[in-house]
Amino acid sequence: MALRIERIPTLSDNYTYLLVCPKTGEAAVVDAPEEAPVVRRVEAVGARVTRILSTHHHPDHSMANPALRERYGAPVFGHVSDAHRIPGFTDGLEEGDEISVGENTARILFIPAHTRGHIAYYFPDSQAVFCGDTLFAAGCGRLFEGTPEMMWVALHEKLGKLPGQTLVYCGHEYTESNLRFALHVEPDNPAIRARLERVERIRARRAPDWHDATPDEMTIPTTIAEEHETNPFLRARDPEELGRLRKMKDSF
Ligand code: ZN
Ligand code: FE
Repeated sequence: MALRIERIPTLSDNYTYLLVCPKTGEAAVVDAPEEAPVVRRVEAVGARVTRILSTHHHPDHSMANPALRERYGAPVFGHVSDAHRIPGFTDGLEEGDEISVGENTARILFIPAHTRGHIAYYFPDSQAVFCGDTLFAAGCGRLFEGTPEMMWVALHEKLGKLPGQTLVYCGHEYTESNLRFALHVEPDNPAIRARLERVERIRARRAPDWHDATPDEMTIPTTIAEEHETNPFLRARDPEELGRLRKMKDSF
C-alpha cells in the first residue's frame, strides 16, 4: 500500500514531509527545520516516527533533527560523507542503498551538486521521490558545492530518468518565481505559460503565514513528466547550457 504523504509547511517556504506507512503506522520525517509543526502533524495523524531523513545538511532541511531524534528515539539518516555536518546524524547512506518506512522501501539516489552530499529518497511503490534542493518544480537548486556537470548528472541521468508519473516532492515552494524565469527563457512554450497561469491562481489563495498553508495553496508535488515539459534545466541540451541558465537564474 502506498505511503500517506503529509506536506508540512515550515520556515518561510520550506516543505517538510511526513511519510506514513498505512499498514503499520510507522513514519519518517523528511527535511525538518522546525520541531513544533512536525510534532503537531504526527499527533494529528497518529503516526509513530521511526526514521528522520535529511536530503542534505543545510539548516533549513536539518535543524530540528536533534530535537526529533531525542523526542522519538529515531535514527537520523543522510549521505555518509555528511556525517560531520548533518545535525543529529546517526546512519550513513550511499547510492543504491535501501531504507524502509514500515512496509515501504526507498532507494537512495546520490545526486551531489547543490551540496556535495545531497541524496534523494525514491519510493518506487508509492511513485514518489523526495529530492530536497536539487530538482524544484520548474527549477533546480543553486550550485553551492558542485558544477553544472554534476547537476546535469543529477537531473538528466538520475531524477529525469525516473518514470514520468513519479511524484516530485522538493524542498521549497519556489514554483511561481521559477516559472517566471522559465517563461523568460522560453517565451513561446505554451506548457510553461499554462502552468504559470495555473500556479498564479493557486498561489493567489495563499495565507499570510506559510505555516498556515493548506494543500490548496501548494504547488507540490509535481511530476517528472511535467518537469520534462516545463523545467528549463531539464530541457537544457547539455551541461554548458544548464550552467548558463543557472548563472542567469542566480541574478534573475
Ligand atoms: Zn539547500
Ligand atoms: Fe533549502
